[in-house]
Amino acid sequence: MREDFPRSVAKELDAADPLAHLRDRFVIGDDDLVYLDGNSLGRLPAATPAHLDRLVRQGWGEQLVRSWPTWIEWGHRLGDRLAAHALGARPGEVVVSDSTSVNLYKLAAAALDAAGDRRTVLVDAEEFPSDRYVLQGLAEARRLTLRMLPSDLDQGLRLDDLSAALTDDVALVVLSAVAYRSGALQDLAAVNAAARRVGAVVLWDLSHAVGAVPLALSATGADLAVGCTYKYLNAGPGAPAFLYVRREWQARLRQPIQGWFGQRDQFVMGADYEPAPGLDRFLVGTPPILALAPLDPALDVLAEAGIDRVRAKGRRLGEMIVELTDAWLTPYGFRVASPRDPDRRGSHVSLYHPEALRISRALATDGRVVGDYRTPDRLRLGAAPLYTRYVDVWDALRRLRDLAERRGWEGAPGAPSRVT
Ligand SMILES: *Cc1c(COP(=O)(O)O)cnc(C)c1O
Repeated sequence: MREDFPRSVAKELDAADPLAHLRDRFVIGDDDLVYLDGNSLGRLPAATPAHLDRLVRQGWGEQLVRSWPTWIEWGHRLGDRLAAHALGARPGEVVVSDSTSVNLYKLAAAALDAAGDRRTVLVDAEEFPSDRYVLQGLAEARRLTLRMLPSDLDQGLRLDDLSAALTDDVALVVLSAVAYRSGALQDLAAVNAAARRVGAVVLWDLSHAVGAVPLALSATGADLAVGCTYKYLNAGPGAPAFLYVRREWQARLRQPIQGWFGQRDQFVMGADYEPAPGLDRFLVGTPPILALAPLDPALDVLAEAGIDRVRAKGRRLGEMIVELTDAWLTPYGFRVASPRDPDRRGSHVSLYHPEALRISRALATDGRVVGDYRTPDRLRLGAAPLYTRYVDVWDALRRLRDLAERRGWEGAPGAPSRVT
């Protein structure tokens, strides 16, 4: 067994880590539990409970309806904060509202309405299920052709394969910036340019990228995007999502759910729907204030860290997972199932193993390492840089090796459960 990566090296990396102090900004609870699932549900920021308590007691309890003039701007205010700290977009281009799936539906439908005679939609065949289902529904209802582009489960959709499918009949391309299973990171500028050459528009899903890798939506020529706030952004389970519409596109698009928050002069309560100018037209109804609120303290931590430093640490954590997998786990049938080049990878790494489901369960119960399982045979390890220490990754991989050595997953259930 190679021992050229002793635990002391991980300790030294932590000692030199400029983000190390930010772990204290989160509720950790059990220090021995290694949490490598921040790409699915980010940890609770320590400031969030008091922030929510104040909102509930003062904002709701005392101020009551008089809070609404402030609250009504929150979707935009938080959107602008996200634009500045995580998305590289301009003010007035991002708003927080609804869920990622719903926002995807709204923007995809809007883009298809604006696409004239074009009748083809492209999506990665390995794209996140909700995205594929939403597009299937839209394609069926509009009798469009939905082309599922075959892609490598570990390496993601290749630009060449996408380019080959980009004909002048393509209206819309939907693609994740970071693939949910492999972590493969797309070249946003190259994809946007390739689509633009044939007059197609790209709708990015940033769910597994935002808060992990810097996104330069303006500079890379992105037109449309959606994404989650409860993964690397740490805004809490089911927190509202965001949508981004490049300024130049806003007046040309109309989304299909004509609610009163998208109406011009909303409180005139006029007879007929007329979309508001600007980003407001992409809204539908009353924002869920209690669910929006945790994004503020969460973004405070991200802003303090700086997304470039988050990215730098995320790369090194990922490299460590890859290096230790190669050194310790290959003899037990594991293989890295993500791009090896850190420039082509987000902040999570997937490992292939035929028993990945049972391993992920045994690792959580016996090993006290929480990662997750993804079909068909992937163990996904997400090292969220704001609160994950190098020594956490070292411990996780060591515990995984110990489990593998004694085939400790053999007693774990192999049947599917409601949530993986
Ligand atoms: C997590 C995730 C979603 C989740 O969408 P919801 O509407 O919040 O359930 C969508 N797309 C991708 C790529 C994701 O990773």
